[in-house]
Amino acid sequence: MSTPNIVVLGTGMAGFGAAHRLHREGIAPVMYDKNAYYGGHTMSFRYESGFLFDVGPHISFTKDSRIQDLFAESVDQQYETVQISLNNYWKGYWPLHPVQLHLHGLPEETILKVISDFVEERYAPERPVNNYADWLYASFGKTFAEAFPMQYTRKYHLTTAENMSTDWLGPRIYRPSLEEVLRGALSASAPHTHYITHFRYPSGGGFRLYLNKFVPMGNIKLNHELTSVDPRTRELKFSNGTVTQYDSLVSSVPLPDLIRMIDGAPQDVVDAARRLACSTCILVNIGVNREDLSNAHMTYFYDEDICFTRLGFPHMLSAQNAPPGTGNIQAEVYFSDKYKPLTGAPEDWIEPVIRDLRRCGLLREDDQILCSKAMLLKYANIIFDLERADALKTVHGYLDDIGIAYCGRYGDWGYMWTDESFKSGELAAERALSAVVSSI
Ligand SMILES: Cc1cc2nc3c(=O)[nH]c(=O)nc-3n(C[C@H](O)[C@H](O)[C@H](O)COP(=O)(O)OP(=O)(O)OC[C@H]3O[C@@H](n4cnc5c(N)ncnc54)[C@H](O)[C@@H]3O)c2cc1C
Repeated sequence: MSTPNIVVLGTGMAGFGAAHRLHREGIAPVMYDKNAYYGGHTMSFRYESGFLFDVGPHISFTKDSRIQDLFAESVDQQYETVQISLNNYWKGYWPLHPVQLHLHGLPEETILKVISDFVEERYAPERPVNNYADWLYASFGKTFAEAFPMQYTRKYHLTTAENMSTDWLGPRIYRPSLEEVLRGALSASAPHTHYITHFRYPSGGGFRLYLNKFVPMGNIKLNHELTSVDPRTRELKFSNGTVTQYDSLVSSVPLPDLIRMIDGAPQDVVDAARRLACSTCILVNIGVNREDLSNAHMTYFYDEDICFTRLGFPHMLSAQNAPPGTGNIQAEVYFSDKYKPLTGAPEDWIEPVIRDLRRCGLLREDDQILCSKAMLLKYANIIFDLERADALKTVHGYLDDIGIAYCGRYGDWGYMWTDESFKSGELAAERALSAVVSSI
């Protein structure tokens, strides 16, 4: 029997997860990517100035020992294991993360209101939870819910908590006991509680190195932007004129783009794909002539008048991410086609970011900016609005019918970390393999 022609669309974690699974069957799939580089969201870039930035802050905190081992092999065991440090910025205060466990230092009036609402909520009759706002009120009480997570939701998810479901929460937002809230309000050194405690990061060369082991497992074709899929003839067309056939197809291409490219996709499926919401992110990458910029690896920003939602400090992940004695900051500024369309070019956000870094005191007037770049991430975070579940069912149902094995953050359309995207690619490869076997 000849080797089946299983084609993989995308060379991110999901695409390489698929290649890894197919490798076990002795298959080296052809992998197409529109970019001039492989890696998708797990790429890292080093600028001429010597500063390295990942495509958004990337750390590996998977608890799956199989994936931990695979990533460790990719970097020849050369990785840092770091205890995570996270904090928040809110109206000039810098509480530790998560804020609900670290109220200490906030204005007395705020702490009083947060605690009294929290207690009141514990004794209130149970109400149905129909959306994320209901969940937040029930978990934290009104004052905290409105001042912190609901505010952050508007900046990060770009819609209101009332318009969001709760199926993405998992362990992401910690629901504390009264004792934990009180302890964090009274003491500056309350215990650290977060679903991420430690993370691993490659010692040199950025997050991208975690892909090293998998790159030889595929026949990678870069600069190949898919433009159409004909599921009846199993033909793919690319913008550079390449036309190819497949026996079975694995795709990590974002669903709204993929559906648009499928010849003969029914109108209800096309409409459903249009309803899927995702954030777009402008990453502003700044290099500074000192390294003592922050004690935290990441900081969350709640205030509407600060343009960025989150900051990361790549030099704190690995000393090799910045030249000696310098530091780097990566700011995330969020938009969404559906809820807050992008304004201006990515570079237009460099000045506002630097201005806000100064306003909150992270940059000093005498700091020298050694590097300032901006990058557009068209697809960043899936928005779990109330339309998502139904629309996704329609889109996935159709792809199942025409035998396209979708995978990854933008194929599964979920809140997935790198390990989950990788495993999703492996599972999609299994579906593609069984589709080939059943059609023989
Ligand atoms: C800001 C941010 C921070 C994150 N931080 C973390 C973190 O700290 N830890 C963690 O584990 N995860 C993190 N993640 C999640 C992680 O990035 C994803 O789970 C993972 O990278 C998704 O991999 P993927 O292969 O599914 O998608 P992608 O990496 O996007 O791969 C899809 C590929 O398809 C290609 N493609 C798209 N359209 C076409 C087309 N028409 N033709 C050909 N090719 C096409 C793209 O170029 C891309 O290479 C973060 C994500 C973001 C956005």
